Amino acid sequence: KQIQQFSDLKLRVPIPKGAKELEDLAGTFNNVLDRLDSQYEKEREFTANASHELRTPLAAIRGHLGLLNRWGKMDKKILNQSLKAMSGESKRMERLIHQLLTLSRSSTITFQKSKLHLTKTVKSVIDNYYLPIDRKLLMEGIENDIFILGDEDQIKQVLIILLDNAVKYTDKDGKIHVSLQKQGDLALLKVTDTGIGIPKEDLAKIFQRFYRVDKARARATGGTGLGLSIAKDVVERHNGTIKVNSEMNKGSEFTIILPVAGD
Ligand code: ADP
Repeated sequence: KQIQQFSDLKLRVPIPKGAKELEDLAGTFNNVLDRLDSQYEKEREFTANASHELRTPLAAIRGHLGLLNRWGKMDKKILNQSLKAMSGESKRMERLIHQLLTLSRSSTITFQKSKLHLTKTVKSVIDNYYLPIDRKLLMEGIENDIFILGDEDQIKQVLIILLDNAVKYTDKDGKIHVSLQKQGDLALLKVTDTGIGIPKEDLAKIFQRFYRVDKARARATGGTGLGLSIAKDVVERHNGTIKVNSEMNKGSEFTIILPVAGD
């Protein structure tokens, strides 16, 4: 708290002339204060965004409660509409809270990394979560026996985030491909869709927390704007990178590159 007040005051140490060591020390101290400043700014922004995002579905639920209270007892149509909307909004809140918790945990908890059969992990996510409901999803070019050093739950979550997005932003008659290949010491996991695509100017921003290309549409699809920032966090904490290629109205391709595990 006290430090935050210092940083608010833009307190900096005057750099003394002449004494080299003192000069260096003051410079270092000021650098630390600069970093604290930007960290506080980021946290403040994050809290403001999170509160806003939580308040929006809550306001919608309260609005529908008011409607139900006034008209719901007499009008079955309003009753059904409001119940459906409230169920959707509360699911959204649940997802958001889950993702916020994941984000805060991912910065404090050390991952349980072990030698992980990535091929099996990818197949099991698709078999368990996607194949029963979604026939447009294809596994093509899945190489056998690729291993990484990783936390299974976290890696699964990354794949689920990418697949959920591909499903959300691709029409029913579109296609989603998943491939896993080894290239030298690297494992390349790709999720490709033939969906709506992402505008060029947004490509660099979609990994930022709460960033959504089209807020209205993202809300309609239940988006929170946190998924890709979580995916990036997790992948980078596995010494990997995540990339995107996309063309409007053609589709998107997300690639995760992870170092393969040695023997
Ligand atoms: P959200 O919960 O809104 O999907 P994400 O962080 O997962 O949040 O994604 C950020 C934004 O990137 C989304 O709102 C969407 O606009 C865009 N996006 C992500 N994946 C895709 C995709 N496969 N196709 C088109 N747009 C996408």
